[in-house]
Amino acid sequence: MHEPPFCPNHHCHCHYPIDDQSRRRWYCRDGSFVSAREGITRRFSCRYCGKRFSEATFSTDYYAKRRINLYRLRRMLVSGVSIRAASRQLFCAPGTVARRLVILARQSIAAQAEICDHHTSGEPLVADGFQSFWVSQYHPNNFNLLCGSESQYVYALTSVSLKRSGRMTDCQRRTRDRIELEDPTDPAALERSFGELVNAAARLWHNQRVIGVRPPGSCVLVTDEHQTYPRSILPFRASSSIEHQTVSSRIARTRENPMFAVNYLDREIRKDMAEHHRETVCFARNAAQSVARMWIYLVWHNLEKPYRISPRSQRTHAEVSGVSPVTVQRQRRKFYRKRAFLCRCTKLSEAQRRDWLQLHWTPEREIRRSRRVTPSYAAA
Ligand SMILES: [Zn+2]
Repeated sequence: MHEPPFCPNHHCHCHYPIDDQSRRRWYCRDGSFVSAREGITRRFSCRYCGKRFSEATFSTDYYAKRRINLYRLRRMLVSGVSIRAASRQLFCAPGTVARRLVILARQSIAAQAEICDHHTSGEPLVADGFQSFWVSQYHPNNFNLLCGSESQYVYALTSVSLKRSGRMTDCQRRTRDRIELEDPTDPAALERSFGELVNAAARLWHNQRVIGVRPPGSCVLVTDEHQTYPRSILPFRASSSIEHQTVSSRIARTRENPMFAVNYLDREIRKDMAEHHRETVCFARNAAQSVARMWIYLVWHNLEKPYRISPRSQRTHAEVSGVSPVTVQRQRRKFYRKRAFLCRCTKLSEAQRRDWLQLHWTPEREIRRSRRVTPSYAAA
């Protein structure tokens, strides 16, 4: 790094884009120090707010004592390797992998948010919930996915913790009721969470109308016949002209099925992520980190994974959804090199901001009423 790109203090005006004239004078050299990780590291200070920082502040290894190969870690996490197995491969503690995983998730969320206005295919959208669990089978969750029906690009992700339902023995039902008594699940959480997904669909449709790539008409959203979905879509129907189409989940899950995009993603997530494999000892112990891992997987799917392997396609899912190859390449280059800052990511949705700050409570492990302290460097 030849010169620091901006001041890392988000209260300082130099944190935000500034004109070239003042850019030259906003910082001054402030000596150097020797770190075990980087060797000699230059230090700077901001002339306006006095904030001191170094070259390491802008590295993706920020606030870390040790350098971990993030490229290798990301490849492992999206290939069915569990946290402990990854830590054995990288000769570090599982906690080190867990902290780097959050960094990878923030880089992923920033990349996803930056290209949110570049989709031009105008394809119908498909939404569905991928169900898994965290902590135990008494805490099922839903990862709600919004995908392009042709590109299988994931446009939005929201997550929610649910109350266990379905067939149970009497003993299991008593345990479920005891847990619910101590820490009740919000019955409206799924409706709200799916509503956020519909909001993302409405925003995407509006952006495509503004840049003129979508013909006038309604935004087609295909879902299964879940009873909650119509209630979530209702508030957006009038303002965004969302046309809701439903498909029975009993029909064959083939390429011709209108829900193919989410069925395909469900299958890929189930086989590629260790915590979602069925009947294994791998499962999510922490809700916020589970969401972080899902972001890493989905953005890798969007930006790195070939669209088809037979016949082999050179394009990614993002390119098929209408993002230019130049934009995709730029995001891929930035991913490991430039640390993403929360305050500079202006296009984050509310759900993405929550995922970035890890504001998800793990059932039975954390008390909802207690305050969660987010490290200031994560909120910068
Ligand atoms: Zn400053």
